[in-house]
Amino acid sequence: MSAKIIDGKKISEELRRKIAETVKNRADNKRAPGLAVIIVGDNPASRIYVNNKKKACESCGFNSFEYALPEDATEKELLRLIERLNKDENTDGILCQLPLPSHIDENKVIDAICPEKDVDGFSPVNTGNLLAGKPCFAPCTPAGVVEMLKHEGIEISGKHCVIVGRSNIVGKPAALLMLQENATVTVCHSRTKNLPEEVRRADIIIAAIGKAGFITADMVKEGAVVVDVGINRLENGKITGDVDFEAVKEKASYITPVPGGVGPMTITMLMKNTLRAWER
Ligand code: NDP
Repeated sequence: MSAKIIDGKKISEELRRKIAETVKNRADNKRAPGLAVIIVGDNPASRIYVNNKKKACESCGFNSFEYALPEDATEKELLRLIERLNKDENTDGILCQLPLPSHIDENKVIDAICPEKDVDGFSPVNTGNLLAGKPCFAPCTPAGVVEMLKHEGIEISGKHCVIVGRSNIVGKPAALLMLQENATVTVCHSRTKNLPEEVRRADIIIAAIGKAGFITADMVKEGAVVVDVGINRLENGKITGDVDFEAVKEKASYITPVPGGVGPMTITMLMKNTLRAWER
């Protein structure tokens, strides 16, 4: 039997409608949530992401403030801007679109955003709180994955979750979030021995590799839940995930498509984090 396809776009719309309602019903004297979006240079992919985030802000009734710095902006200039936004009363969340030009130290920039406004959840304080299981802003992509699973009523507790990928923005935080949901977690990476065997043991697979079609049907246990985080552009311009979708959907019980799966959820979790920063 073919898997149920989890519609990330639809779940996102539902969540954004709820967020917009909360904002609309705010007290008369309270301003709308404000998200500052910083972009440095003119990377076309970054521009698309920033535009999508601004559109999401509009759909939720948020104010979005764009700060576009030229490619040759200095690290000092960027840090000064962040310092100003940290203190700005109309800004609840600060997001600095990555990657940054190579002359700017990304870690320094992430560290400069105050944890209360770090709605991307990348700062050391939020990362530490996530590790300790304390309240924090969790990184948006893995948070979106968990939200999707819960929305579908998929049991996580006691399940064996295999994550392929160990990046700081997806794989590692996904492992922590799934642990918090009481899954038994295995994290695979490029040095993992017998990776197909590891993945075959999974009840839930989270693929965050960045290689088109990497997870093939022979790696998937019958009835497994398959979440595809990957975004890969093929030579023909088409966007595809890390999972061989057509073959795997015949074996999985649930599967997320690319596009229309984890992608929209990521931006929605950014809206959710910004709403929380505003409520605080
Ligand atoms: P990274 O490149 O930072 O990490 C990729 C991970 O995959 C690494 O841990 C790497 O292992 C592992 N890996 C690479 N090749 C292999 C292999 N042959 N076998 C096993 N493991 C391998 O990527 P990100 O985590 O940033 O992103 C992953 C994918 O998710 C990308 O396609 C990206 O575009 C997408 N993405 C999607 C988002 C969304 O909103 N949907 C948001 C963020 C990312 P090692 O550590 O050993 O090198």
